[in-house]
Amino acid sequence: MIEANNPSLKSWIEVEENSDFPIQNLPFGIYSTNKKSKRIGVAIGSQILDLYELANAGFLEATGVSANVFESNHLNPFMELGKESTRKVRNRVSQLLRASNTEITSDSRLMKSVLDKHSEATMHLPVQIGDYTDFYSSKEHATNVGTMFRDPDNALLPNWLHIPVGYHGRASSIITTEQPIHRPKGQQKPKDDEPPTFGACKLLDFELEMAFITYNGKELGDSIGVNEAEEYMFGMCLFNDWSARDIQKWEYVPLGPFLAKNFASSMSPWIVTMDALEPFRCETPKQDPKPFEYLQFSGKKSFDIKLEMYIQPENGAENCVTKTNYKHMYWNQSQQLAHHSVNGCNIKCGDMMGSGTISGPTPDSYGSMLELSWKGTKPLKLSDGSERKFLLDGDTVIERGYCQNNDLRIGFGEVRTKILPAK
Ligand code: MN
Repeated sequence: MIEANNPSLKSWIEVEENSDFPIQNLPFGIYSTNKKSKRIGVAIGSQILDLYELANAGFLEATGVSANVFESNHLNPFMELGKESTRKVRNRVSQLLRASNTEITSDSRLMKSVLDKHSEATMHLPVQIGDYTDFYSSKEHATNVGTMFRDPDNALLPNWLHIPVGYHGRASSIITTEQPIHRPKGQQKPKDDEPPTFGACKLLDFELEMAFITYNGKELGDSIGVNEAEEYMFGMCLFNDWSARDIQKWEYVPLGPFLAKNFASSMSPWIVTMDALEPFRCETPKQDPKPFEYLQFSGKKSFDIKLEMYIQPENGAENCVTKTNYKHMYWNQSQQLAHHSVNGCNIKCGDMMGSGTISGPTPDSYGSMLELSWKGTKPLKLSDGSERKFLLDGDTVIERGYCQNNDLRIGFGEVRTKILPAK
């Protein structure tokens, strides 16, 4: 067991019982305050530990990481150092925050300078994303979409059980929590026998996903093996991959989604490390037919992560509209990374790999409004009496996720995005 994951550890910082950020988590993010420029912080309870101040005061010397790495607009310079260094920093932070450790608490001035209240901080996009890839790895989601738009008897396309299907998305429009989006405009073709129209998207949707962030991979031409893939993963975050279903339906032939997807995707601001997720490893669904050898893995390669999506109407209450779990994914992320690089494609530090919409087996665990309202035929009722087939202007969509066992809760926080009218 990684010592920093020991469930019996307690911090001298008070952590509320259901906090996503106990001492066993220690996710990394970028924050600023009224007095502080952007820097790398670690979430602990309702506070943020300032790694730049901590390093300046000499407390991270043993990790070999210099202080200037932590005064950064993004996590990239830190991730560039590789897993050995980022792991050392998490382990050192764990030591410093333990109830028995007095290195920080014995100096009240230091203590004040290295801690900020989460409520007084602004969270920023944590990663400068180089390339963004989105997979399509939930069998339930692919089956639902295939059933709705093609043929219920042949819902999965012939390649689906052989290939972790994916496409290259757009990195520039990835945003983080609290940044609103405008409803996109584009071409649609609402009626088969009439010409296309242009205007604001009418079928705006979320996609409940997660994503992993990579370290530097290998040289162009080399491949990452499925059983070494996790060595190239820094951590994971929540990911809402906004989708304009009406624009998508008209434009996606023959090259796949374009403007229906690239107007925005929202990631959560804290990246939970692969190390912190270790206690929540689990099996993935049995794969039949047996995948090609480069996709055959040993051990548990998925994680038991509970995921929820909420819709909050303007001035209204939050409504949980779905609960699903990362473990339902048919293709795990090690297979995704192995597949991504099997042709020699080079993975870079700060690349983002989206899971694809994560739908569970039951109708209350579907990962998009498209599925939850079954193409608009079964509207969802919200607590204020209103109905949703798709999302309305003024709605705030909130994704949350956490791992929970008898000893421990490791959470991702949330990513929250308000929908503004089309410009
Ligand atoms: Mn997606």
